[in-house]
Amino acid sequence: MRRWLGEASDAIVSLFFPAGCRICDRLLIRASRVPICDECLASFRRIAGRQCAVCGQPWLGPGDTGGAELVCRACQMRTYAFARARSFGTYDGALVRAILILKFEQMQPLGEWFATRLAELVQKEPAAMAADVVVPVPLHRVREKERGYNQAALIAKPLARKLGLPFKAVLLMRTRPRPDKQVLSLEERWESVRGAFATRPGSQVDKLRVLLLDDVLTTGATLDACARALLASGAKSVIGLTVARAVRNPLPIPIKAAKN
Ligand SMILES: [Zn+2]
Ligand SMILES: [Zn+2]
Repeated sequence: MRRWLGEASDAIVSLFFPAGCRICDRLLIRASRVPICDECLASFRRIAGRQCAVCGQPWLGPGDTGGAELVCRACQMRTYAFARARSFGTYDGALVRAILILKFEQMQPLGEWFATRLAELVQKEPAAMAADVVVPVPLHRVREKERGYNQAALIAKPLARKLGLPFKAVLLMRTRPRPDKQVLSLEERWESVRGAFATRPGSQVDKLRVLLLDDVLTTGATLDACARALLASGAKSVIGLTVARAVRNPLPIPIKAAKN
């Protein structure tokens, strides 16, 4: 009966509010406010299987490690200030489109959907991913004013609720805006975020384990720069969590920068 009612209400909603999937245009015949059909949602390439234990980079190295923990080259060189990072999916195909919809249309139901997936990732490794607060990677205040919201917060807020943790966007700020240039080289990416974040004066970060949230991990530079600011203010540890991750970069950081 309940199932029939569910299907009936889906049908009524689609009758009165017919809409196409924002990715493939297939008619959405359900009451969910996520504007993407189940087929497209299922097409996101989830990151599963072998990955670097620290940064979560899918493991492409030799198959047999004799049971040792997998740690990628960048993490062996202690490139990142964050203790670990995990991502839901590979940044390609429909997931790129979905993130753009979230980012430019303030699509809250999609933020909720991503938050559910990320909460599942946290619950899969409860000890390693344990945190005290959830903090979104901040936009520069000028950018946030232009856009009217921070897309990372659209995910971080429902995630905090699902994990039963406080949401503390107030802890961190971006003090230097991203350069206007659209495409940044690997070096420029690291350079553009170095020292670009700071904890807010008077904010309580001391001894906190911070779950830091962003939409996409490209080189890890942004999460790294945020983590450095939080740790410098006394945070105990920082764990990065992103919806997607670019996996085509041969190395997440130029070796030159890693040695600094
Ligand atoms: Zn679709
Ligand atoms: Zn790694």
